Amino acid sequence: MLCIHRRLRQVVWNDQIMILAIDIGGTSTKLGLVEEGSVVARSRMDTLGDADEQAFLDRLVERALALAVKEKVKIRSVGIGAPNGNQLTGTIENAPNLPWTKDVPLARMISERMNVPAFLGNDANAAALGEWRYGAGKRHKDLLVVTLGTGVGSGFIVNGELVLGSAGNAGELGHMILEPEGRACTCGRKGCLEAYVSIRGMKRSYEEAIATTGKTCLDLDIPAIVEAARNGEPEALVVFDRTARWLAIGLANAVCATGPSRIVLFGGLSRNRDLLMPRLTRQFDDHLLNIYKGRVDIVTSELPDDDAALLGAAALTTV
Ligand SMILES: [Zn+2]
Repeated sequence: MLCIHRRLRQVVWNDQIMILAIDIGGTSTKLGLVEEGSVVARSRMDTLGDADEQAFLDRLVERALALAVKEKVKIRSVGIGAPNGNQLTGTIENAPNLPWTKDVPLARMISERMNVPAFLGNDANAAALGEWRYGAGKRHKDLLVVTLGTGVGSGFIVNGELVLGSAGNAGELGHMILEPEGRACTCGRKGCLEAYVSIRGMKRSYEEAIATTGKTCLDLDIPAIVEAARNGEPEALVVFDRTARWLAIGLANAVCATGPSRIVLFGGLSRNRDLLMPRLTRQFDDHLLNIYKGRVDIVTSELPDDDAALLGAAALTTV
């Protein structure tokens, strides 16, 4: 009897139980094993190249099981962050950058294949949950997390819960209209925050600033604009001034809706703290309604870049 007990304890020690986190991006899909807010093992694969979603699932599960076997880990549950992921239905809905044309019920497909619970949400909501559970949003039960990158995403935590809305699609701050007759947005409307504050929007702002000077500019990527700003180029500094102003107005408006005590910025633009934050906080204070002044701060993400999306996906399993 004693021997059996020893063997059982040995099995438990060798097979730790962890969350499998999956972050599906437009070009690559990352996998991670997560324990107590840390990514302890990672893998990745191409998102594209499969004939259909079933073939993608086959590859994904194979990769996940290989990782679990290698690390001697049992998978307790699966969290998946994906563009256009609907947390209410566990479905990726008509995602613009993914190779499937129809809605894909990926949470159910993975759960059935791996025989564990699986949860899916959109990447911005996953980021919000990751910041709230493990990052700069800890201890804030009213929080706004904004992801700044190719697009502008957001997730609202209100009274300790992620806001999903009636159809699982709440929190589209990037498509709040700032300029009704403004720039065309990818959503088909005009003047959305995303059309100004995204990578595409910043490039457009730089083109506009350069056009007034008669200069020509061939290299328009964001690192070049950042470097130019650090070197004091007036047109590049104007881009940061304007981007900060639009973002400040968007955030001040969002505060009116849910009254968060903290706003966490996440993603590419937020990594240029020195250029963005002084301009942003000044503009934010100027535009914030009086009753919120001194009650909300803006910070940048504290999560390691490589792990933030995986921790967010893992957090989807604990909602
Ligand atoms: Zn839009």
